[in-house]
Amino acid sequence: MVLDGAGDTSLLLVKDDVPPVLEENAEGASPFLLTSDHYGRALPRALGDLGLPESEMERHIAWDVGIAGVAHALSKHLGAHLIAQRYSRLVIDCNRPPDAPGSIPRISEATVIPGNEGLTRDAADARRQQIFDPYHRRIREVIDRRLRDNIPTVLVSLHSFTPVYAGIARPWHVGTLYQRDTRLPPLLLKGLRASGDLVVGDNEPYAVSEETDYTIPVHGEARGLMNTGIEIRQDLIADAAGEMQWADRLANIFGAIETELRARRLFVPSPLVGEG
Ligand SMILES: [Zn+2]
Repeated sequence: MVLDGAGDTSLLLVKDDVPPVLEENAEGASPFLLTSDHYGRALPRALGDLGLPESEMERHIAWDVGIAGVAHALSKHLGAHLIAQRYSRLVIDCNRPPDAPGSIPRISEATVIPGNEGLTRDAADARRQQIFDPYHRRIREVIDRRLRDNIPTVLVSLHSFTPVYAGIARPWHVGTLYQRDTRLPPLLLKGLRASGDLVVGDNEPYAVSEETDYTIPVHGEARGLMNTGIEIRQDLIADAAGEMQWADRLANIFGAIETELRARRLFVPSPLVGEG
């Protein structure tokens, strides 16, 4: 067994480390509950730089480039509760089951992550217990409260994707990301396509599955909530102007979706209560 610095992480997060969970508009009245699994690229001090140069930590392998700015502005425009996670997906991927390969990646795209080599079980558990668990516990608590209080709740999981992956260019500007919900994703696709100027991916460049995803299956599907993921291409939100433009665009589309859901009485306050 390899015991090195990365193995001694019973106290992974200490006083000077930021808390993993970031929230905005917790009292927001919007039915949309926004999550951002790959919001940040912070590293716990105990892990140093994971053996990577800063240039790698700025790339998509470390976080969802541009999504933080979109998430803040969209949360503000909609008055929607945002729950986001500040640590890099290279520490632990908050949208992957913790027992799945790639939860703590040893290689991402073509980059070897030295700080993730030879991790002990305890070191991996510490990352889960101190970063992954608090984030998902908070999302669960918020959904529990909203269901208890009969607050309409629609889960929207915000992501961004790299324009070129492993040498292959991706044509889509934006994509929806879903598995079982047949209500929300078609409305979002319709709204995005109505813009007329976008190449819209329907479950592209990714689709949701239990093996590769966590937030939508666990907090959306298993709770009976309408849900979708949204993937924005990173070169479109590479600066503040792009982030604001996409936040405006999405706020308009989600505003129209809310109106339509209310008109069609599709908000089900709780699986136990039935349609209002
Ligand atoms: Zn992501």
